[in-house]
Amino acid sequence: METKICKKCGEVKEVELFPKGRNACRECRKKYLNDFYRNNLDSAYQNAKSWRLENPEKRKEIQKKYRENNKEKIHLNDKIYRKSTIGYKKRIINQRICYLRNPVKKRQQKKIWRLNNPEKVKETNRKIIDLLSDGYVISKLKRQTGLPISIIKQYPKLIKAKRLIIQNSRTIKTLTK
Ligand SMILES: [Zn+2]
Repeated sequence: METKICKKCGEVKEVELFPKGRNACRECRKKYLNDFYRNNLDSAYQNAKSWRLENPEKRKEIQKKYRENNKEKIHLNDKIYRKSTIGYKKRIINQRICYLRNPVKKRQQKKIWRLNNPEKVKETNRKIIDLLSDGYVISKLKRQTGLPISIIKQYPKLIKAKRLIIQNSRTIKTLTK
């Protein structure tokens, strides 16, 4: 078994435990690289941060230029992000925060938006009905039972059952048409 002395830790180890052409063993090399990246990333991050703080105008200019030159890319990324689960959740949370901050104004804006976008409203409603979302099924249950939504929400099995009933009657309707 061929061995070698590691110049870092001084241990005698099998040659296989050294990266090719290196005098420091794999373990020491790994540690060295880890430290190197950590130190350099930290200082690179600090440098970038202080530059940003010292050059706010230049930064704005660069960002603007970047946006102008990458419109399509940004648009596409935005679209992907919006459709992702995290993006969707964040959007809903932000909307909620906005709404809580200024409920009356938001409600009015929503109303105006709905009046100006009847097609989109129809499309969304159709989707909600087609997909039998929880909200839709709950609203049906509410109408049927007269119970408040907060109570209905405590019975997911009831919601599930109602969804199945609606699906059933839909299937029967299409079969007997
Ligand atoms: Zn070593």
